[in-house]
Amino acid sequence: MNDCLFCKIAAGQIPSTKVYEDEQVLAFRDIAPQAPVHVLVIPKKHVSGWYDAKDEDDALLAHMMRAAATVAKMENIVDSGFRVVSNCGADAQQTVKHLHLHVLGGRAMAGEMA
Ligand code: AMP
Repeated sequence: MNDCLFCKIAAGQIPSTKVYEDEQVLAFRDIAPQAPVHVLVIPKKHVSGWYDAKDEDDALLAHMMRAAATVAKMENIVDSGFRVVSNCGADAQQTVKHLHLHVLGGRAMAGEMA
């Protein structure tokens, strides 16, 4: 998508600090981390949000979750624990309209969701 921030990051047009990449997803550090580990997992293909995903995206969505687990392992937060969050829509304060998972860890979290 032409004017999408995360599409530009996926295409390398905007720099990011890459943590993990494969043919389907890119994981990079959040620019405003909310925890010692705060990594975003995005599909390289543009999907606006969960509501926008199609049947044909099922494998991609599952792959994103597997990639989040891979990131947690790479960041050494599997034993301490981690949180995977995905904001969808205005009330959830989704600010970037390209599907993404937040992988958060490295500190004990309270009741907040992100
Ligand atoms: P959300 O609010 O759930 O849509 O999450 C969007 C996330 O993208 C926020 O946590 C931002 O800090 C993060 N973000 C925005 N721009 C960038 C960027 N250029 N590089 C890395 N993370 C970004």
